[in-house]
Amino acid sequence: MQNVVTWVQRLRRLCPITALSLELVRFDTQAMQAPDIEGMEYQQGQLSGFEVKEYLLQKWGHRCAYCDKTGVPLQIEHIRPRSRGGSSRESNLTLACVPCNTAKGTQDIGVFLAHDPGRLAHMLSQTQASLRDAAVVNATRLRAL
Ligand SMILES: [Zn+2]
Repeated sequence: MQNVVTWVQRLRRLCPITALSLELVRFDTQAMQAPDIEGMEYQQGQLSGFEVKEYLLQKWGHRCAYCDKTGVPLQIEHIRPRSRGGSSRESNLTLACVPCNTAKGTQDIGVFLAHDPGRLAHMLSQTQASLRDAAVVNATRLRAL
């Protein structure tokens, strides 16, 4: 919250700000942890999947995680394939273009990215990321300025 206040104050030095709108987003951490949850387990409807995709688009910069292509359809992709014990937690999900998703198939990411150790290391580090940022946004979104 203090970060928002600081930036508004900085911007006001550069130009007159007469109105301010805050977009009070809310991350659906339950859906991020388990996108496949449904029915009685999860009763908030179809918005949950949309929020997961939106979260992944932000996290992975609106590009294919494997070839950096932008402006193409991106599919939700399991970094560690489900067939190899990978979970559907947000930390195991990324976005891939159709050709990359098809090419990777159910390969282990270490095999698929053996030719690109830098990208492999980055992607594996992302699988360690927690929901901390989303939790912070949720916790502060309704606090008054
Ligand atoms: Zn790609």
